[in-house]
Amino acid sequence: MGIKVIYEKCNLCRKCIEKCVFGAIEIKENKIEINEKCNLCGLCIKTCPQNALIKEVEKKKEINLDEYKGIWFFVETRDSQVASVSYEMLSAAKKLKEKLNEEICGVCFGKNIKDKLTPLIKKGAEKIYFIDDDIFCNFREEIYANALSYLIKKYKPNIVITAATMIGRSFIPAVSVKVKTGLTADCTDVDIDEKTGLLIQTRPTFGGNLMAKIICEKHRPQMATIRPKIFEEADDEENSKGEIIEEKINFEIGDKIEICGREKLENVVDLQEAEIIVSGGRGLKEGKNFNIIKELADLLNAAVGASRAAVDSGWIGYPHQVGQTGKTVKPKIYIACGISGAIQHLAGMQTSDYIIAINKDPDAPIFKVANLGVVGDLFEVIPILIKKLKETRR
Ligand SMILES: Cc1cc2nc3c(=O)[nH]c(=O)nc-3n(C[C@H](O)[C@H](O)[C@H](O)COP(=O)(O)OP(=O)(O)OC[C@H]3O[C@@H](n4cnc5c(N)ncnc54)[C@H](O)[C@@H]3O)c2cc1C
Repeated sequence: MGIKVIYEKCNLCRKCIEKCVFGAIEIKENKIEINEKCNLCGLCIKTCPQNALIKEVEKKKEINLDEYKGIWFFVETRDSQVASVSYEMLSAAKKLKEKLNEEICGVCFGKNIKDKLTPLIKKGAEKIYFIDDDIFCNFREEIYANALSYLIKKYKPNIVITAATMIGRSFIPAVSVKVKTGLTADCTDVDIDEKTGLLIQTRPTFGGNLMAKIICEKHRPQMATIRPKIFEEADDEENSKGEIIEEKINFEIGDKIEICGREKLENVVDLQEAEIIVSGGRGLKEGKNFNIIKELADLLNAAVGASRAAVDSGWIGYPHQVGQTGKTVKPKIYIACGISGAIQHLAGMQTSDYIIAINKDPDAPIFKVANLGVVGDLFEVIPILIKKLKETRR
């Protein structure tokens, strides 16, 4: 797409040059030329008294939607092991299959991973394509994007879902560009429209004030990333059978970076992997009081979470925020300290296995979802817990 000049009509009046705020129009060899600064805003077209400028629309190639079949999920690996989030994506794919009845297929890249894919077949994947290569030992966006788009072009799946992890979020947008389709990022649900068979991709929008349902009507595959911990990991299925198929790819394209080494970052907030989370809210009164939350978390080998009120007050960083506009978590134990339990906070933690709430207000909504409620002042309760835990460690 671009702006085209109809030279027969243009009288070099220069009105378009004056109007263009991007400096994208110039005169070269007595002719108007549009340069690379043009962002297609169209102001010049409206301004031209001779109607000598038009927007050229690239004719889109119609795609045959019926050629695209299958529900694909991306099998993420970490240190050459299948990441637990991959089982959640399989679960989402199984949900879609209930209404769409198309083959569930996983795609995995890694080194020596073939044998590690069998559990996915036991849990309902009907096919898994994998590429085994040293190159996948370190995650690199362009290599992953090239490999997945190559397979998508070859097999034409109808749907491709990926976890909205650091890996999924970083390479999937490049895949959607390469295969010329749309992508809905960070979905909190996916489903199938029973009338049209289209993928319904649900995600919060306008800062979480609206839940948007997005469809991709004219392009394939329909692609979405899904937040971790929304779907349970898939269960084993009786008599499930499937094929694990090796694929090969030429890595010349995009292989431009040499990884010299890897270092594990310390103190990275991995709320979504944590088995125990201790979260603090506005009840902490001041940022420095997060120290007692951190002390309790350290003793429990837990991660530190927070309500949006605490994050917005600048007491702790956004990566710690739990809730509709933060992270969705599902630890074995979630301890909410001085958090009221607003619906947007509950949206991110209410599926935790066991919830403990400490709040001085007996009517706080958090107690409705708590398995164990402590009505009391957190500045009294938490130090007692810390003391008891320290005693048991002696
Ligand atoms: C679009 C939108 C998206 C949002 N997204 C999120 C989100 O992702 N995550 C999120 O958390 N919120 C989110 N919110 C904000 C949410 O509505 C609440 O405002 C927020 O969760 C409140 O945080 P809080 O519970 O820490 O504070 P409050 O609601 O002020 O609750 C503080 C609690 O602390 C208790 N307390 C006070 N002192 C003590 C004490 N000494 N000991 C024990 N208890 C004490 C009080 O009784 C009270 O229940 C969102 C809101 C909107 C509109």
